[in-house]
Amino acid sequence: MSSLADTLEKLKKLDDERAKLVESSKSALLNSVQDNLAALADLGFSYELVATGSSSRSRAPKSKDKPSGRVCSICGQSGHNSRTCPKKK
Ligand SMILES: [Zn+2]
Repeated sequence: MSSLADTLEKLKKLDDERAKLVESSKSALLNSVQDNLAALADLGFSYELVATGSSSRSRAPKSKDKPSGRVCSICGQSGHNSRTCPKKK
């Protein structure tokens, strides 16, 4: 009776049940939070509920468009300087 397949099947059902319980708890909690936020808004306090990164922790890209190192003061490109700039005649 208690074969591995049975156990796995049981675990899968428990996982499903757990997911459902988590989801319903979450929506119940979120609803009460939203109610409280609405009450706060009535009092003139504006708050926003923001979910913080449970998934990818991507910070704002920092200085990606600013090339590190020296850039040419004539054309603004890296790899050479104003003395060796190809745009300079
Ligand atoms: Zn240049």
